[in-house]
Amino acid sequence: MLNSELPLDLDDLMTLLAEAYDVPIALIGIVGKQDEVIKASHGTDIKYIPRENAFCSHVVESGEPLLISNATKDDRFRNVQNVVDGKEVIFYAGTPIHIEGESVGAVCLIDSQPRSIGEKHLTLLKRIGLLVSKHIGLSREHEMLKREHGLIEKSPIVLATWNFDNSLKLAYISKNAHTVIGADAADLLEGRIEFTDLMCDESDADFTFAMQAHMEGVETHVCRLKMSVPTRTIWVSMISTASFNDNGSLFSVQAFLFDTSDQKYVEDKLNETNQRMRLLLEASELGTWDWNLKADVNQVNRRWCEIVGIDYEYYDTSYRYSRQLIHPADLVQFEHHLDEHLRGKTSVFNTTFRMKHANGNWVWVESYGKIVENDAMGKPLRVAGIHRDITGRMESEIHERKKTQLLQFINKTRASYLESNDLTRACQTVLPELIELSDSQFAFIAQMQDKDSEPKLFIHAISDIVWDSASFTQYAEYKKRNLYFTNFDNLFGKVVTTGEVIISNTPKTHPASRGTPKGHPRINRFLGLPIKIKDEVVGMIGLANKFEFYKASDAAFFQPFLDALAGLFYAVDLETARAEAEEKLRMLAMTDSLTGLLNRRAFLDECNQISQTHQQVAIAIMDIDYFKSVNDTYGHDAGDYALKEVASITRSFCSEHGVVARLGGEEFAIVLVNKSPNEVNSIFENLREAINATQLAYKNDRINITISTGVSYTSDCFDIDFSTYLSVADQALYEAKSSGRNRTCWQPGIL
Ligand code: GH3
Ligand code: MG
Ligand code: MG
Repeated sequence: MLNSELPLDLDDLMTLLAEAYDVPIALIGIVGKQDEVIKASHGTDIKYIPRENAFCSHVVESGEPLLISNATKDDRFRNVQNVVDGKEVIFYAGTPIHIEGESVGAVCLIDSQPRSIGEKHLTLLKRIGLLVSKHIGLSREHEMLKREHGLIEKSPIVLATWNFDNSLKLAYISKNAHTVIGADAADLLEGRIEFTDLMCDESDADFTFAMQAHMEGVETHVCRLKMSVPTRTIWVSMISTASFNDNGSLFSVQAFLFDTSDQKYVEDKLNETNQRMRLLLEASELGTWDWNLKADVNQVNRRWCEIVGIDYEYYDTSYRYSRQLIHPADLVQFEHHLDEHLRGKTSVFNTTFRMKHANGNWVWVESYGKIVENDAMGKPLRVAGIHRDITGRMESEIHERKKTQLLQFINKTRASYLESNDLTRACQTVLPELIELSDSQFAFIAQMQDKDSEPKLFIHAISDIVWDSASFTQYAEYKKRNLYFTNFDNLFGKVVTTGEVIISNTPKTHPASRGTPKGHPRINRFLGLPIKIKDEVVGMIGLANKFEFYKASDAAFFQPFLDALAGLFYAVDLETARAEAEEKLRMLAMTDSLTGLLNRRAFLDECNQISQTHQQVAIAIMDIDYFKSVNDTYGHDAGDYALKEVASITRSFCSEHGVVARLGGEEFAIVLVNKSPNEVNSIFENLREAINATQLAYKNDRINITISTGVSYTSDCFDIDFSTYLSVADQALYEAKSSGRNRTCWQPGIL
């Protein structure tokens, strides 16, 4: 550039020099590899001197001034033929030109006669050399600047400079302002248009802020400005840099401005994607991504990184990296959507999913994207889109949805219990939903029970716990409703013993953790929730391995369910107590308190049941002979004792074949089913003989007793009226009594 292109308007200076030093020729030469190029001159029009002839080349080589008073007499140059304009150079005085510390040429005085020059004049010449050096340096910088400006003027980037003099005044703006921001550079520079007038109202403050920041010492500032150009509104990014004097005061601000709304990439998207996408893009706070499938480079912006808390500088551009940030539970759906779009099934890629934030939390992201470039075969090459952080919205939505789900879930548990009257079944029915609602992998619902007088946890419902033969046995017990947890020296035991919520997101380090049984799937996180009635722990829920951390808010969320379970546990206890009491009452109402046999009413109920079947029945009435005299002889208590003994013997002979009841007083009724008349007869005869043979011992008394029995019989008892048969039996009994007692008499015509 120094040699050929840089114009130097220094001929006048050369004339002045020649006159001052009274020499015919003064020139500035820049020494190149082959030639010395004359950049300015007085007294000659010559443009080049071959390097080997140029005395200036010696100045360049030594970097020092060179004085030759008489070349013909100077040993160093005697043989150098240096001719300028046909005249031999006899006198030469040259001083180096330095550019950036390097000597590149010389300012020199030439005469074809010998001359001498004083020390003072030589020093002056040296100083002129320094001035010329400085001048050339400045010209060069100026030229480079002009070139840069030239380049900028052809680019879509506007360069503007404001100088500071009490206030910032626009001092330079590249000519392409016209095309980029729609305002003529000259109009702006000459004040016909104010730069700030180009701003849309909402960006006024941003621009003022940027300039204010520089005035206050900020070096670099980046902002986005909305500007109004004659035909439309554009978004312009402005990067500005301030220059300060040594004393720290601002002297200028330089800025690059470029239209970011006008980029083809964005324009394509705006045109092609739907209105929603447009709105999303216009709202800032959007992360952008641009994935080149072939190169596997996923370019993202700072905001994208910010959403997931990653340092932009450390972001890894591979797809694999972005992919592994996606929540495992959302990954399948995410890839499905992506695949559908890549295969051309959808016009836009749109889905929501969770991504792992660097702080360990999950953020909800809404992603919109679209293929923006295909290869020659039409295969997708690039997909670009945006990310929006919708965590706040999703969390409140999910919370609302989960609240509704929880209510339904509680209702379902209650309904299931009411329907089946079976709490274990109700717990098993809702267990999968409990797992889903809590985002967990494992769960169990357990109730405290005092089994064998030791407190134990009865497991109503538990996730499949089969991992080895021991757990298989346990699970089989569970299926039989016989699984109990008895060891409380562990995480879930702690829930029962303290009655507190236990949250452990790193169970191994939790003081109550005793690890997991051998072969058990890894427990990463655990949440134990006590089920309490008043202050008493009546059961618990254990949840494990949520994708995220368990929080106190999870426990609070499930409290209504815990209360509902507490209610159910309570209801079940009440129900059990009630049923037991009822059963007791029923038994009391049905049995004869003295003998423990069925009473008359219960006996008739039984007979009604029996009458619903087709079978042979014998209906008998048995009466103790001369019982009045037993009472009279041995006393009423002895009589009661005798009644109990007779009842017991009768039961031992008959109850496995039918029903025995005490009808009242010393009268018993017996029904025998599915026995032939002969079989019935031998049973009663055996009974009669047994009682006859028994001597009852009451205190000091020995009591002998006999019985009489009357029997009626039918071979098909379906829908018969038992009272008829009872009266027939009664007649047969009368027969037995009147024919001598201690005997069995039958309804006529059967035996
Ligand atoms: P028979 O051989 O004709 O049946 O003579 P019996 O004495 O057994 O008949 P009767 O009907 O005259 O007497 C029945 C007696 O049974 C009258 C009553 O004192 C007695 N008795 C009724 N119920 C009880 C009872 O619960 N305990 C006692 N100890 N005696 C009872
Ligand atoms: Mg009697
Ligand atoms: Mg009687």
